[in-house]
Amino acid sequence: SQVCNPTMWPSGSTEGVSPAVVEGGKELVLSDQQLAKYMELFEENINRGLGKETNPTAIVKCFPTYVQHLPDGTEKGKYLALDLGGSNIRVLLVELGTAMNINSKVFTIPLSIMQGQGTLLFDFIADCLIGFVKSNNVEEELPLGFTFSFPLVQKGLKIGILERWTKDFSCPGVIGNDVVTMLQDALERRGHKKICIAAVLNDTTGTLMAAAFKHPRARIGLIVGTGTNGCYWESQQKAELFDEPDSGSGKVIINLEWGAFGDDGALDFIRRSYDEDVDLHSVNPGKQKHEKMISGMYMGELVRLMAEKFTKAGLMFEGRGSVSLFTRGALESSAVSDIERERYGEFTNVKRVCDSLGLTHATREDYCNMRYLCSLISRRAAQMVAAGLSVLMRRVGHKKVAVGIDGTVYKFHPHFHNLMMEKIKDITGDEFDYSLFLVEDGSGIGAALLAAVLARTQQL
Ligand code: BGC
Ligand code: MG
Repeated sequence: SQVCNPTMWPSGSTEGVSPAVVEGGKELVLSDQQLAKYMELFEENINRGLGKETNPTAIVKCFPTYVQHLPDGTEKGKYLALDLGGSNIRVLLVELGTAMNINSKVFTIPLSIMQGQGTLLFDFIADCLIGFVKSNNVEEELPLGFTFSFPLVQKGLKIGILERWTKDFSCPGVIGNDVVTMLQDALERRGHKKICIAAVLNDTTGTLMAAAFKHPRARIGLIVGTGTNGCYWESQQKAELFDEPDSGSGKVIINLEWGAFGDDGALDFIRRSYDEDVDLHSVNPGKQKHEKMISGMYMGELVRLMAEKFTKAGLMFEGRGSVSLFTRGALESSAVSDIERERYGEFTNVKRVCDSLGLTHATREDYCNMRYLCSLISRRAAQMVAAGLSVLMRRVGHKKVAVGIDGTVYKFHPHFHNLMMEKIKDITGDEFDYSLFLVEDGSGIGAALLAAVLARTQQL
C-alpha cells in the first residue's frame, strides 16, 4: 500500500511542519462524528432524491438512468462511443468479441466552446465524431453510446434533458433541452444520417458498465476527476421515478449527482472559508458545493487559498508570497498529486512547484508546510468519498462488492486509493468484502458496452 510505502512521505505527515500550520489546518481534519453526520445526511438526501413526492425539492437528484442490465461479458459486435467529459471529447470505436478492440481519439475542447453557444458545442462534437468515423473508414451504421458527463434528467435511455452545467461549462441554450436531439440536429446539419444514438448516459454509468464487464461484483461507479459523482445499482421499487416496465433485473442504475450535495447548506458544518471562496469565484456559485470540496477542478485552488492565508499571516514563506501564490487558479490539482508523490526525506517535487510559483525563497519548513496543506485537502476529499461509498455499499446490500472508479484525482493522486480503503474499513469494519479498482476510460468504453447490452437484451 502506498500509504505505508516507506519510500514516500506518508500522507498527513507533520514531520517538519510548523506547529502553527498544524493548528491552523485543524479545521480541515474530519472527525469520526463529522463523518457519521455526513453519512446520515447523505442517506437522507438519497431517500429524498428517490422519492416521487420529495424529488422535486431534493438536492441530490438520484436520476434513474433507465439502465436495467449490466454487461455479463458475452457482449458482441461493433459500437461507437462518444464521451464528453470535463475538458475533452473522446470518440471510440469498440469491437467486442473474443477480445476487446478499441480505437479512439481525444479532442480537447477549447474554453470558447465550453462557454460559447450550445449549438456550437454540438457542432464541435459532431465534427469530432464525423472526422473520426471517416478516418476509420466506418461504412456501416453503428449504434452509438453517448456519454454526457453532466446532470441529465432522463426520460428514457435515449432522452436526456440537461438540468444544469457543472465544472467549467456554461453554454447557453442547452439547459432544458434533450442533448440527444441536439446532437442529432448537429449531425443532420452536416448531412450525416448514418449514426444511430442507442443511449445517452452519465460517465459514472459508463464507468459502472465497464467495471461490471470485468468484475462480476461491480455495483457502484465513481468518478473523482475534474468533477465528482457516483452511481449505484438500486431496486426499481425504491427508484420511485423510474416509470418503465421491468425488463428482468428488477434493478436500475441511479445517477446520484452527488456533486450537488450540500447546495442547501447541509454541509456547512464541514465547509470552511476556503470552500466558500472557491464557490463564490466559480462559474456556478451556490452549486455543486460537495464537488467543490472534492474534485480536481478545485483541489489545487483550495491548497493555494490556504497557503495564501498562512503566508499573509506570516506563517509561511517568511510572510512574503509571490504574484502567482496570490493568483486564482495558479496551483493546479496535478501539482497537489506531484507534491504528495515525493520520496521520503526529499523535496524535489515540492521545490519544483514552489519555484514555478515564484517562491524561490522557500525554506525546508515551507516545503513541509506546503505538503501538509496538500494532504489536508486530499485526505478530506478521500474521506468524504469513502464515507459516501460506505453509504452506497449498504444500499447495494451485498457482502462482496466492487467499485469501479475513474478520474484524474483517483488515478494520479498517490494516496487517494489507500486513504479511501482505510476510511471505508474504519467505517464498515467487517461488513463488506470490498474492492476499489481503476476503470481506465470507463466512461467511453462503458458507453459502447451499454449499446452492446441493449443489443443483447433486445432493448435496442
Ligand atoms: C457532473 C456529473 C459527472 C461528474 C464527473 C459532475 O460535475 O455533474 O454528471 O458525473 O461531474 O464527471
Ligand atoms: Mg471522463
